[in-house]
Amino acid sequence: MTAQRIHNFNAGPAALPLSVLEKIQASFLNFNGSGMSITEISHRSSYFDAVINDAKDRAKDLLKLDETYNVLFVQGGASLQFAMIPMNFLGNEESADYINTGTWATKAIKEAQIQEKSIRVTASSEDKNFSYIPENIQCSPDARYVHITSNNTIKGTQFADFPDTGKVPLVADMSSDIFSRPLPMEKFGLIYAGAQKNLGPSGTCMVIIRKDFMETANKNLPSMLSYATYAQKNSMYNTPPCFGIYTIGLVLKWIQKTFGTLEEMAAFNRKKAGFLYEVIDRSDFYQATAQKKSRSLMNVTFRLPTEELEKQFVADALKKGLGGLKGHRSVGGCRASIYNAATMESLHALTEFMTSFEKENA
Ligand SMILES: *Cc1c(COP(=O)(O)O)cnc(C)c1O
Repeated sequence: MTAQRIHNFNAGPAALPLSVLEKIQASFLNFNGSGMSITEISHRSSYFDAVINDAKDRAKDLLKLDETYNVLFVQGGASLQFAMIPMNFLGNEESADYINTGTWATKAIKEAQIQEKSIRVTASSEDKNFSYIPENIQCSPDARYVHITSNNTIKGTQFADFPDTGKVPLVADMSSDIFSRPLPMEKFGLIYAGAQKNLGPSGTCMVIIRKDFMETANKNLPSMLSYATYAQKNSMYNTPPCFGIYTIGLVLKWIQKTFGTLEEMAAFNRKKAGFLYEVIDRSDFYQATAQKKSRSLMNVTFRLPTEELEKQFVADALKKGLGGLKGHRSVGGCRASIYNAATMESLHALTEFMTSFEKENA
């Protein structure tokens, strides 16, 4: 018997669609008639070739990518991308722009600086505790790339529109909002996302890279740190995270079957976040921490009148089967992460709980 599942609002690793988990469970001992588990088959087998190609095809289909883009799977999480991007793209005399919108962007900047690469922080929202997304961003026309964090998982802000960078390619950390909405792909040279927020289990990072941009990368790098290696070897230069890639394929298939397009996926996400912000906005008890225009549809961050009440809120919620509502340890407060897989039922359960908690404690 399966124990009761909770409404899971974890920031990451986060909730996966139930149907995907059931599919994994049902086929775990015997993958596609192979007589082996997906965790036991060779990555050099035709079984796994089909798995990785299927996941890539579904990603390309959803984002409407043509042959000018590669989809890669790299280990080391989004955090390794912080280091790999400047390593691959910043040579001597070259510089990149970074937009600092929070903890993860700050870490990306740090990893470039450790390597003594030349970067400019051209916009930042640090002055107001990262509660907003800077507007009217002026990028350097000679920048190699402009790095942004499209959704700020900890502070609960998100780029609603992407900055105009002219001919300079955007490089985006989309760990917490990839496949949550359609994207103007022509703006991007590279997109990366650690899987454990909106894609699958931890252990793999999806990298979508424009081939002409990739061809400009530094060629003298260790194999495992060079995008070209992953592109040339279909992400199988060494043993890839097979189970993670398999699960990502299932999650992308779930988006296709359930929503069809990323436009529909985005409409569902807007609706879910709308319910939650409505409860927050009509109350004096709950205070949203992000400025209205910059609010994330994925991570809804809010505070209660006291830290005491926040503790009680998180504890009472868990008793009602609502988990993961504690804010990131670095900022406190409360956070509901409502990625693609968060169900309408979970949203209703949460808004109901919030309304009754306010009545009892305001
Ligand atoms: C979680 C997260 C990261 C870190 O991801 P890892 O895979 O743990 O390295 C980076 N950026 C954003 C936006 C995140 O949400």
